[in-house]
Amino acid sequence: MLRDASSLANPQETRVTHLDWKVTVDFTASALIGRATYTLDRVDPDATTLCLDTSRLEILTVVDQNDDSLSFALESPGGDSVAHSHLGQRLVIRIAPATTSVAIDYRTTPASSACQWLPPAQTSGGVFPYLYTQAQAIHARSLIPCQDMPGVKFTYGATVTVPAWATPVMSAILKTTSRAHPDDSQHGSSKIYTFEQTVPISAYLLALAVGQLEKRDLSPRCAVWSEPSVVEAAAYEFAQTEEFLTMAEDLAGTPYVWGRYDLLCLCASSPYGGMENPCITFVTPTLLAGDRSLADVVAHEIAHSWTGNLVTNATWDHFWLNEGWTTWFQRKIMSRIHHDDHEQLLDLDAIGGYQALQDACSREMPLAYQKLVLDIGDGDPDEAYSSIAYEKGFHLLRALERRVGTSAFEAFFQSYVQKYAYQTLTSDDFRDFFTTYFEDNEAIRDFDWETWFYEPGMPPEDPPFDRTLAEHSAQLAQVWLAVDRHGRMLPTTSIADWTSLQTTCFLDALLLQTNHNSVPPKDPLKVSTIRALQKAYRLADSRNSEILFRFCMLAVAAEDETILPTVVRFITTQGRMKFTRPLYRTLFASVMGRDLAVQVFLGHKEFYHPICAKMVASDLLLSSSSSNSGVWATMRNTISLGKSWMWAVGGAAVAVGMGITIARHRRR
Ligand SMILES: [Zn+2]
Repeated sequence: MLRDASSLANPQETRVTHLDWKVTVDFTASALIGRATYTLDRVDPDATTLCLDTSRLEILTVVDQNDDSLSFALESPGGDSVAHSHLGQRLVIRIAPATTSVAIDYRTTPASSACQWLPPAQTSGGVFPYLYTQAQAIHARSLIPCQDMPGVKFTYGATVTVPAWATPVMSAILKTTSRAHPDDSQHGSSKIYTFEQTVPISAYLLALAVGQLEKRDLSPRCAVWSEPSVVEAAAYEFAQTEEFLTMAEDLAGTPYVWGRYDLLCLCASSPYGGMENPCITFVTPTLLAGDRSLADVVAHEIAHSWTGNLVTNATWDHFWLNEGWTTWFQRKIMSRIHHDDHEQLLDLDAIGGYQALQDACSREMPLAYQKLVLDIGDGDPDEAYSSIAYEKGFHLLRALERRVGTSAFEAFFQSYVQKYAYQTLTSDDFRDFFTTYFEDNEAIRDFDWETWFYEPGMPPEDPPFDRTLAEHSAQLAQVWLAVDRHGRMLPTTSIADWTSLQTTCFLDALLLQTNHNSVPPKDPLKVSTIRALQKAYRLADSRNSEILFRFCMLAVAAEDETILPTVVRFITTQGRMKFTRPLYRTLFASVMGRDLAVQVFLGHKEFYHPICAKMVASDLLLSSSSSNSGVWATMRNTISLGKSWMWAVGGAAVAVGMGITIARHRRR
């Protein structure tokens, strides 16, 4: 199998095929305490080790199927190199020829990057704590020792013990729930839930959330989960889920294989719009606009049930196969739902995406990460994450679709899903399959795969968008620019009956025309224009987070101090990186907000998910001086790692707390 440098595991020799996970959720200690039992495929029968990825885990004991102790060690790659700290530590377990399974007793530490332990104050209810996990891209290793790479898929069963007040949900099907019973610890009574995932998944799709959760059924196979005070709003917002799912099945030509499709509407700090955890997508509450206008994110996560979860990128270098396909699939679903026969609505959405792509390419993003096919090596996949995979990937697929025709391409999509279901593939696999499928089609002969795959920057072909629906938005943006630049009359156009997509398109046009990406902004709007915009359209009061975000970006670039309370409220009451990172960056680049950005971040860093906190700190030129004390310091160059090797039999080896100091240069 393909080597994956983002993992320290050895599936080429010994591969895990099934996980039996027994885990107790200890809110008092902010720890998962558990036993991970793996069934092994002895790919190389002579191999003497099973290597698993770990990060900041405390490994207690390892035994085989007969309960006999196995010796193990924790190994840090690259010695003391901080450049590799995101890889964690390799757990090397000595196995005998007869070893068929291993069981690892372990516990997580508060520094686990996959876990977000929220105190009651950070929940909607304010009474109970909350835990949710986010394992993509390589954070599963901080949740459980595992072969943490997309190329290894395994089934799993889980037995989860939680406090009696709590309800757990997992990326699996719920099988049983026990009655509450007195715990043997001091933490009161507890309940036990069992789950089962019979479709093999990659480790990044392991997911667990535990809180005071309630459920509302949307259809026989769909439900929405959330805290009691949010669940009704979430059920309203996501009411079209079954409709999306049925449409997705029709387009994919393969039935939905995961049984249930539920949604968990998370706490406000969740870093992503959605995470496509099988059986239960985790979504951000920033989608709760009150008018179902942001439900396309649900279509996106549903699409991942085929592209990503079933057909999976072989390594994170080929992330576009997950996200480019899913963006294409999502837009097709929404287009069909809205009877958008000429794909004008699809193009309106894609025009917004194209601008996000331009933003990514014009930012100080390293050229290496502007390629569709990445070469992350043993670098940190979080650093390579951007809209490139989504939008450039989408445009590659649309370019192919234009050449072969829409109906042929949609039929190809169905064959692609059938061919690679339950597997992983690389970009070359995709190219080979496509070119073989369309072997006799002259139109793809000269397709420039090399440029599409490996050249950084914008796609080599300008997409021929149908701009019919975007026209009004573009025209209104021009009128406002004339107001700003030449003192023309204020427009009287009402946008009250516009779709939210048209409004975001209008704001996108203003952002583009004012070069908001240059630092500092080259051509910001005047403060007077921002105030007139607010007076006309009340954009700062929008419940639609996409609209609010764009208006805040314009107003900060304009140095309009009256927007600051709104911006601070926005970036401290939700932690979705799509909004939080650009707003922090723009604030930091402004004259009025540079110090404020740092102050606000330092005052709220505990609110954010660890992944978001890490990325914003990097954006603000801050670095973490301690992996788990939460102290952030200005940029330093200090690196000190403790012991990199430890062998133990039956004893405890601690992977963290060894005085790890992390500092990194900001990428330019
Ligand atoms: Zn996605």
